[in-house]
Amino acid sequence: MSDQDRKRTPEMPAPKVVEPTIFDLSAPGRTGVTFPPPDVPTAPLPEALLRADLPLPELAEVDVVRHYMRLSKFNYSIDGGFYPLGSCTMKYNPKINEDMARLPGFAHAHPLQPFETVQGSLALMYQLQEWLKEIAGFAAVTLQPAAGAHGELTGVLIMRAYHGSRGDTKRVKMLIPDSAHGTNPASSGVVGLEILQIPSDERGNVDLPALKAACDDTVVGLMLTNPNTLGLFDENVEEVIKIVHDCGGLVYGDGANLNALLGIVRPGDLGIDVMHFNLHKTFATPHGGGGPGSGPVGVAEHLVDFLPTPLIGVVEEGEGEMPPLFGYFTPAKTIGRLKAFHGHFGMLVRAYTYIAMHGPDGLRAIAENAVLNANYLQTLLRDTYHVPYERICMHEFVAEGRIEGSDVRALDIAKRLMDYDFHPPTNYFPLIVHEALMIEPTETENKGTLDAFAEALIQIAAEARDQPELLHEAPHTTPFGRMDEVKAARELVLCCWLPEDYKEKG
Ligand SMILES: *Cc1c(COP(=O)(O)O)cnc(C)c1O
Repeated sequence: MSDQDRKRTPEMPAPKVVEPTIFDLSAPGRTGVTFPPPDVPTAPLPEALLRADLPLPELAEVDVVRHYMRLSKFNYSIDGGFYPLGSCTMKYNPKINEDMARLPGFAHAHPLQPFETVQGSLALMYQLQEWLKEIAGFAAVTLQPAAGAHGELTGVLIMRAYHGSRGDTKRVKMLIPDSAHGTNPASSGVVGLEILQIPSDERGNVDLPALKAACDDTVVGLMLTNPNTLGLFDENVEEVIKIVHDCGGLVYGDGANLNALLGIVRPGDLGIDVMHFNLHKTFATPHGGGGPGSGPVGVAEHLVDFLPTPLIGVVEEGEGEMPPLFGYFTPAKTIGRLKAFHGHFGMLVRAYTYIAMHGPDGLRAIAENAVLNANYLQTLLRDTYHVPYERICMHEFVAEGRIEGSDVRALDIAKRLMDYDFHPPTNYFPLIVHEALMIEPTETENKGTLDAFAEALIQIAAEARDQPELLHEAPHTTPFGRMDEVKAARELVLCCWLPEDYKEKG
């Protein structure tokens, strides 16, 4: 697809093209490499390792570059356009983060080097632990978990280990609100806990009577996302936490929505016992197709001893101008190691850079502008798309993807947005909102972008009434039309690029 095509108006369907595979572009004898003459004696290859038939494509370098360049343009990215995918915090990733992660001293460090030789990397990790403690109000932080869900697993193992260490072995249940992300029940489930779902009340808060009824001495704790996935700050959060603590349970904080709270509220101060951060959301490290996540976990004082090993700490205070010597520590009752080496170090460098660049006031401004942007969009769209909870939202909101007098669904609206060159919002989550469209603009978008996005959604609502088939069949301007997502997930074809005759041979 050329850049011309990208700017095609929504009314102009794209001509359907058949995408050539790299084999279609191949021609016998073309080559993209020239080997220098060998400077060692040649030797015959072992017969047993040779294949009679290996259909590799034959192309010149320029053909290969153009092929992959063209494919790369099919993708939608945060560097290409607005990406309001709710709960994912798809904010702009500052390019200085990339420069820092590529500094040879960081990029070429080996995790098995003697610790005296990687003091710079350890100093960065130590400082990041300290900053995350301060930002969220915790006594200690591990940087090991690979992403949010892995942080949840870490946190749940810590909660179980805490109860176990006190001989409190009756506790087998995790309480999880019905607005929670699917990873919450999943991570409790893999640890072998029983899941008990807690309903939300009519204002989108945790239902207090239901929570009280569920709390007893068999409860490990509650997994609480605040603000929750409806984009609402729980109005009774302190009461919720007290109820769980009063029955001896712990409160896990799902920190995916920390972007709304930076510099304003510290989860640790609210009484949260353990929480994961999603560095790739709140602290702008690339995610989605852009790179691995990172899910550090913070804990309150009574859980410090259970953290995974190793933590980064000061081994020897520096004298005078000398910096301290950093090294590794194993907490006294550690749950063990959760990840090889030190987690996704490159992501730690990016998050460190982002925090250093913004400073305390800058971090607070992030939260304020994220909340402002979401409320601005909610206000523009509320008359067109029903928002089930009549409240000021935090950094995101959930609208219903339904239009009076039309049979279109949230999926149709999401797909049609692609024709307007916007990434669709999260849809069909959270599960408690019918035909949910979960919209998170983030703080990095300007008013012009928010206005254009709202205008597109309002125009789509008009189309839904007048030309619903336009939505049912959307998208029209993308290289490929509507995908069968169920088939794509259930019947994965991972080698479609192979020539037919080779596939048949298995
Ligand atoms: C993103 C998210 C998670 C999971 O985090 P990953 O980093 O994707 O593993 C958990 N809970 C909520 C609310 C989220 O938005």
